[in-house]
Amino acid sequence: MDDYWWKHFIDLLYPPLCASCGLQRPLERHIFCLDCLHELPETGYHQHARNPFVIHFLGRVPVKAGAAFLFFSRGSGTQRLLHQIKYNNQPDLIKVIGHWYGKQLMDSPLWQEIELIIPVPLHWKKQRQRGYNQSAVFGQAIGEVFGVPCHKNALVRLTHDKSLTGMNRLERVGTIGESFAVANASALKDKHILLVDDVLTTGATLESCAHALEKASVASIRMVTIACGEL
Ligand SMILES: [Zn+2]
Repeated sequence: MDDYWWKHFIDLLYPPLCASCGLQRPLERHIFCLDCLHELPETGYHQHARNPFVIHFLGRVPVKAGAAFLFFSRGSGTQRLLHQIKYNNQPDLIKVIGHWYGKQLMDSPLWQEIELIIPVPLHWKKQRQRGYNQSAVFGQAIGEVFGVPCHKNALVRLTHDKSLTGMNRLERVGTIGESFAVANASALKDKHILLVDDVLTTGATLESCAHALEKASVASIRMVTIACGEL
């Protein structure tokens, strides 16, 4: 049996279920059932220059535009969706969402300048457990819609050893939490960047990445995530 028939054979035995409720069959060529699609908690932030996502970063780091696709709340369909993405090894699900959201971003004038997409790097231990970085898959899919590259190794996560060695105690205070650096600053200089992560919670990770990009003299920074909590 070739792959095509094999997939259909598997689907017949285990029909795919809606990625949100996990109960009903999804619509044809879709990841959600009709009910969940109607109730999808879209933020609509990408259409507004001044929205809670952007305001969240005011005074911390300059964000030219910022948005999350969906609202995330405990027990919601979005939480189930993110759980599937994180633990059930479903990069195809993220690809669908990335293409979907990428088209929405393309329709808004706020996102037109983007030249390069950069995902937040996953800790190597997590990457080894999971096999892929969901932010990179999401960014790659948005990049396919925009026709711009996604550089998944542009940012590097500094290990504690690297970030703390050779610093005095005062300097160390600033490195509590995660810190990032760019791999090749000259490749990012004067570029309009879209920084991509899976979920916005405190914003500390995105802020830290944005600071690294600022040091590389990028032209502008925009941010998107798959989901965000109440901001
Ligand atoms: Zn559903």
